[in-house]
Amino acid sequence: MNIDSPHFEISKHKDYLYVIKENISLVHPVYNNDPLNMYLLLGAHTALLLDTGCGLFPIKPIVDELIGKRKLLVFNTHYHWDHPLGNVEFGEVYIHENEVDKVSKPYDVSFFKDSPNDIVKIYAEQNFLIPPASKIKTLKDGDTFDLGEIEGKVIHCPGHSPGSICLLTSTGELFTSDVAYYGDQFLPEKDKFSEVLKTLSRLIDLCEKQKNLELYPSHRKYPCDITLLTDLFNGIENIENIWETKKAFDFFEAWEIEDPSGKFRYFISR
Ligand SMILES: [Zn+2]
Repeated sequence: MNIDSPHFEISKHKDYLYVIKENISLVHPVYNNDPLNMYLLLGAHTALLLDTGCGLFPIKPIVDELIGKRKLLVFNTHYHWDHPLGNVEFGEVYIHENEVDKVSKPYDVSFFKDSPNDIVKIYAEQNFLIPPASKIKTLKDGDTFDLGEIEGKVIHCPGHSPGSICLLTSTGELFTSDVAYYGDQFLPEKDKFSEVLKTLSRLIDLCEKQKNLELYPSHRKYPCDITLLTDLFNGIENIENIWETKKAFDFFEAWEIEDPSGKFRYFISR
């Protein structure tokens, strides 16, 4: 088949790294962190797909074409809807142990029922319940993987969600998932910011120890560098100083606050 999918945009970023992009605003305009970046790492004998996207169109045929005869591992960075809804196409998917329950049952996307976008018909045909992968396996902090010439480690990064993970590779990439990217940030309640900041400072420490790491976020711009982490850390730390500028944003049941830098907008759970 031809890998030029009209839905996904595929680019070869390095010999061993493909980026498969999907625009999540197609589902509902309220989500504007386009594109979602799914990463495909090609080791000597095994490939790793990081996230499976929105589940609108088949992604497995694209992945199969790109990986050739390699075995395939599939990881979800976390359970939020834009990352695991293509899981059903794959027999087995890994996710952090804190979020196994979230992706082991049909995923309820009925919050999209009133979307103005026609594409949600694809979800409606499934009664807004997207089936899961047949087998879900668990990841935890410190787990390692070996793709052949590329090794990697799982870093548990709670904050954005309880089971968010980042991946650090022996080839110098840090896949930051939704823990850090430029754009709209979905944050827990204000009293849980300390967990978010702890995670970000752990990643900042890592980048300071291991210079020249390239950061690959799951949304928008890539690669980034340590500045992304420090920008976000400082921005979140500053939220209490601009707390009075918050507005209610009911779709997300959140408070919306614009970062003065223009680099981020925060949605903070109410
Ligand atoms: Zn996301």
